Amino acid sequence: MSDPVLRVRNVRKNFGDHTALDDVSLDVHEGEVVVVIGPSGSGKSTLVRCVHQLESIDGGAIYLDDELLGYERRGSRLRPLPERRVAAQRRRMSMVFQQFNLLPHMTVLRNVTEAPVRVHGRDRAEARAEALELLAQVGLSDRTGHYPRQLSGGQQQRVAIARAVATHPRITLFDEPTSALDPELVGEVLGVMRDLAANGMTMVVVTHEMAFAREVADRCVFMEAGRIVESGPPAELFGDPKTPRLRAFLARHN
Ligand code: ADP
Ligand code: MG
Repeated sequence: MSDPVLRVRNVRKNFGDHTALDDVSLDVHEGEVVVVIGPSGSGKSTLVRCVHQLESIDGGAIYLDDELLGYERRGSRLRPLPERRVAAQRRRMSMVFQQFNLLPHMTVLRNVTEAPVRVHGRDRAEARAEALELLAQVGLSDRTGHYPRQLSGGQQQRVAIARAVATHPRITLFDEPTSALDPELVGEVLGVMRDLAANGMTMVVVTHEMAFAREVADRCVFMEAGRIVESGPPAELFGDPKTPRLRAFLARHN
């Protein structure tokens, strides 16, 4: 198999004297969909935020395509990279948040073309053509000139997903993308994510949607108290949980 797109190695993250991530290791290969489940406070958001370089880490290392993120090696020492270089690393990934974080004063189309044009220096006409294609894929061809406030939560999150993939990220991180939605709007967003997965996108998805995890994940990771407690194919995790903690979690979420 080729080298993983993402390697998380023995990562530790502390907030004061609280350990949010404790020796967490995870590989994600090209085209793989890894779903992270676990109770509230178990470190799921912290994990994806550390990968996206929104949080620094206190131990271990994270690599994107074999490049160390956030630090450079100086002899045997690690030195934090200047913010400009961290930003360049961050641009090779995308993240979709629970709150869609669209730019309210820009149209749907503009929300999707802004980063490719302004940050990645892509040609505007080309970015526009691709954005229209992406918006068609997420079922929003008829909303390209609308503003975010004119859309439902499910539509806004589909715009946010189109925006995330418009920059051709090596990996896309989703942090509970459907948790802020009314129940009847969850399905349309999960459907878009299912299509992206089927098209070979490399994804890490934090979610409480167990049916999605079972169906779409290549691998599922169960976290508790900052540690990865179990990890494997969803059929294994859901069908034959090894730890009482995962058994109890699944009993609460089915
Ligand atoms: P999850 O996403 O699984 O619900 P989080 O990663 O958000 O869990 O949080 C893991 C732990 O770290 C929790 O105990 C949380 O309170 C703590 N935590 C997260 N972010 C911060 C922060 N910025 N400052 C202090 N504690 C934090
Ligand atoms: Mg969270």
